[in-house]
Amino acid sequence: MKIICLAKNYVAHVKEFDSVVPAEPVFFMKHENCIVRNNKPFYYPEFSENIHYEVEVVLKISKVGKNIEKKFAHRYFDEIGLGIDFTARDLQNMAKDKGNPWEIAKSFDYSAPLSDFIPVSAVNDVNKLDFRLDVNGSTVQEGNTELMIFPLDVQISYISRFITLKTGDLLFTGTPAGVGPVKIGDRLEAYLEEKKMLDFNVK
Ligand code: MG
Repeated sequence: MKIICLAKNYVAHVKEFDSVVPAEPVFFMKHENCIVRNNKPFYYPEFSENIHYEVEVVLKISKVGKNIEKKFAHRYFDEIGLGIDFTARDLQNMAKDKGNPWEIAKSFDYSAPLSDFIPVSAVNDVNKLDFRLDVNGSTVQEGNTELMIFPLDVQISYISRFITLKTGDLLFTGTPAGVGPVKIGDRLEAYLEEKKMLDFNVK
């Protein structure tokens, strides 16, 4: 199983980093080691002093596909959930400065708390889904999948040109604006529409 993550996929988030809206999807990988399930706590790692939350809609790939045409992309996932793309922003900035890959900033152990999945058929329109993240009871990120720069079908089509998608692969579809640091003791709750999907603590 692999985890593919979109970067820079919401205009407001791109702007909060003074970055440029990309002409094509930008993606990177996390590893299986990143996954944390069942609302287990996130343990703040010793190698960073600036871990940021990024709430994201996650698709679970349901069949093998390569060079998937955009019009058929919706056939390649049937479940959705939410995840947090925890990012060691200090290490990421260092990597960016040096032109190095992002692995230690993005793909460290336990950096991707993941909700249970619900069938796509349980939501009205997967391309118009509200989601949000609350930290300590206050909403810090709000998004709607309609606001993606590269919609789900474009992501799937683009990624599958380079990397074969396989059953069970996960696609983190990018974070909206409002990313920020977590600290030990924080409680994170993430909602897809009105359904609470994640509820865990930082320890
Ligand atoms: Mg992200």
